[in-house]
Amino acid sequence: MDTTAQHTNLQLIGFVEALLDDHGIPHERVMSPDGTCANLLARIGPEVEGGVVLSGHTDCVPVVGQPWTRDPFTMHRSGDGRLYGRGVTDMKGFLAVVLAAVPKMLEAGLQRPVLLALSYDEEIGTVGAPSLVDRLVEALPRPEAVVIGEPTSMQVVTAHKGVRAFTTIVHGRDAHSSQPQKAANAVAAAARIAAFVDDLAIRHAEAGADPRFDPPYTTFNVATIDGGQAINIVPRRCELTWEYRPVPADDGEEIVEQVRRFAEDEVLPTLQRGSGDGEITFIVDAMARALADEDGGPAETLCRELTGYTGQARTVAFGTDGGHFQAAGLSTVVCGPGSIDQAHIADEWIEVSQLDAAARFVDGVIDHLTR
Ligand SMILES: [Zn+2]
Repeated sequence: MDTTAQHTNLQLIGFVEALLDDHGIPHERVMSPDGTCANLLARIGPEVEGGVVLSGHTDCVPVVGQPWTRDPFTMHRSGDGRLYGRGVTDMKGFLAVVLAAVPKMLEAGLQRPVLLALSYDEEIGTVGAPSLVDRLVEALPRPEAVVIGEPTSMQVVTAHKGVRAFTTIVHGRDAHSSQPQKAANAVAAAARIAAFVDDLAIRHAEAGADPRFDPPYTTFNVATIDGGQAINIVPRRCELTWEYRPVPADDGEEIVEQVRRFAEDEVLPTLQRGSGDGEITFIVDAMARALADEDGGPAETLCRELTGYTGQARTVAFGTDGGHFQAAGLSTVVCGPGSIDQAHIADEWIEVSQLDAAARFVDGVIDHLTR
């Protein structure tokens, strides 16, 4: 199913609902504001606390412009023990393993429930997860642990950076370039904000806050700047896009507030000094929360037990929905089949042996919840 992010995932959601209906399992959609996408929640097992959330996103990244050698949306099994197709690794393989285990979950005599939490539009900035997590906390008994099945080769990942992306729009006033006193130069104002963001980048790089990550600090990117018409016109509008990827300690509102304050206190008065016109607006384009290490929290303990992983808890460079679950007070780790190296590429593939490992993991979760 083509569930490329920003399109619709309702075909997939409908498929999962039908599967759950076949087993008499109630489920609930949490719709996107425009109604084109849905998160899905379901509880299998008794309505008691202490369950385990198995969560994955249903969207995938685009295939357009990539040199696929076969139809990306028809899964292909090759002779080399691999499955090919968009999303097999990131992350429909995990979802398929979980759904295939539903009959086992029903027969196992669960003492505590498995909670299924499927999100939409993770790939464009964990867009669906916040409303999914809100509803889960509101409607379902409090779980013991959350497992995000993103590709980690079944290793236990306890921390990742966040992603916060913004568009800053400067509205100025145009005039003949010989009359700047009657104008408000939007490009000049945006450039000062861009320079401020880059100064933050330098300061954070020097501070080097968190050695578990590569690089060990919050990174920034001044990405695009777009404004101005001609050499003899004072520009009236400029649009700046920028992002930062905070280590868990920086994953609050503090950094963006610093930028907003600078724009308001330093840039805006300068912009308005000639004509009195000028406005600066910030749009949040994406906000993926960081995942912070819980130092042996329930989710990590469970996943170590089930995978036999005894090494150091790992961090990854990519973001997941997990930070939103953790921000709601739920113990969360990332652990799933396949490698991120095969995600987002043409001819995306996953080893069947990885899916087997994930199936054993889900069996272990079921067993844990019957004890
Ligand atoms: Zn993913």
